[in-house]
Amino acid sequence: MESKLYIRTDSDAVECQLCPHNCSIKNEGLGICNTRFNRNGILESIQWGIIASSSLDPIEKKPLYHFFPGKKVYSIGGYGCNLKCVFCQNYEISQYVPQNIDSLRIISPKENVTKAMIYENNIGIAFTYNEPTIAYEYMLETAKLAKNEGLKNVMISNGYINPKPLSILLEYIDAFNIDLKAFTNDFYRKYTGGKLEPVLNTLKAIRKSEKHLEITFLVIPNLNDNEEEAKTMFEWIANELGEQTVLHLSRYHPAYLLENSPTPHDTLIRFYQQAKEKLQYVYLGNIHIDDDGQNTTCPKCGNILVKRSGFYASQIGFDSTGNCFKCGFGPVVINS
Ligand code: SF4
Repeated sequence: MESKLYIRTDSDAVECQLCPHNCSIKNEGLGICNTRFNRNGILESIQWGIIASSSLDPIEKKPLYHFFPGKKVYSIGGYGCNLKCVFCQNYEISQYVPQNIDSLRIISPKENVTKAMIYENNIGIAFTYNEPTIAYEYMLETAKLAKNEGLKNVMISNGYINPKPLSILLEYIDAFNIDLKAFTNDFYRKYTGGKLEPVLNTLKAIRKSEKHLEITFLVIPNLNDNEEEAKTMFEWIANELGEQTVLHLSRYHPAYLLENSPTPHDTLIRFYQQAKEKLQYVYLGNIHIDDDGQNTTCPKCGNILVKRSGFYASQIGFDSTGNCFKCGFGPVVINS
């Protein structure tokens, strides 16, 4: 499948314009993500339609806590990523690229939508597991078909995408969870191979579009657990994106190239308390703590709106438009 976003820079060299790496790719070469190949001056998305995982997941697992809580979403993902995070928690598929892709089965966008429509209690399709940006054309085609059928589309992403392709996606994606991996460019450069600013621009563009936005911050001991830095990040989120922005603080476990110990509970609790000073909705992930850090409560009257246990959520305190039953505040969650 020919890529939608590239220019020819030489007789047979191209520049991919999908993500901020803007890779220059010579003939018969691949971009950093290993999924875009220059064949005689035509840039191809060589993994178009290859699905590594698919599953009907609770929406809370994405995580999305304020978008149809308690519902399911048909989740699909392929291989590869445009970042190279040394601490990747999903490296088996994100940092792996199958060598013999000809033997893998292609799932068409239409097949995805047909499957999504069969499932009960399913709100739509989630582009997730690996980085969906690198399957841009496939995601866009699937999302358009899904939208036509009245399904919702959600994207779980590192946010490393150029403004133009993002603006096109914003027409079709209803909700995003974007990773904010740290708040310094130095961290992004050293540990992910990317830059911070494009991710901040993505967050601002999503907020401006009024599509649903949640953020995940993976707290990694000795790498991004500086409290002053975190405080600056929480302030930036509140000032630039609004204090109603949903933030998930997630516990790190050693994986891929990084062997640092798992995030201590105390660190997560401290970060949780700090974030709560600036933001109305903060949650803890990959950790089991009773009630606090899991449930959604009304910021005005304290009524429990959603009670959670693991990925199970019961909707107990809001009406069909997502407003608090008790005091009418809202909408706090999107539910229609
Ligand atoms: S999508 Fe891949 S090929 Fe294109 S700029 Fe990003 S890393 Fe490079």
